Amino acid sequence: MVRIAHERISGLFALAERAAGSDHPELADRYVRLARRIGMRYNVRLLPEYRELYCRDCSKFWVEGRTVRTRLRRGHRVRTCLACGRERRARSRAPKRVSSTGTESVFRPVPREEGVLAGSESEGAEEEPSEDEAEEP
Ligand SMILES: [Zn+2]
Repeated sequence: MVRIAHERISGLFALAERAAGSDHPELADRYVRLARRIGMRYNVRLLPEYRELYCRDCSKFWVEGRTVRTRLRRGHRVRTCLACGRERRARSRAPKRVSSTGTESVFRPVPREEGVLAGSESEGAEEEPSEDEAEEP
């Protein structure tokens, strides 16, 4: 149950991030509220990288420069919610990005086992492409 809750929460934050960049940024706030409600119901804490993405007072999804302002003050990042004005101190490490692209090439060295793949797995599906829909009259 807890794992499902975590999955739903991360899914909602992905949706929120997408909505924030779309024509309906107000949807992002709704996704944040839903994610928080799921967290409360199943008694799971939101991951720290998610907790830096929204205002804990008004559940506003934070977009840098638009709904939140980040300042460095004595080594701390101070984030001010532009919706309700609440200030919040955060550690001064770089915020994690929930990015959809760009990570795969780093984590995946492709193993090269050409002999194994060529021998057993192919079932002739790719050897002869059918031409019946490309036929010209
Ligand atoms: Zn706020």
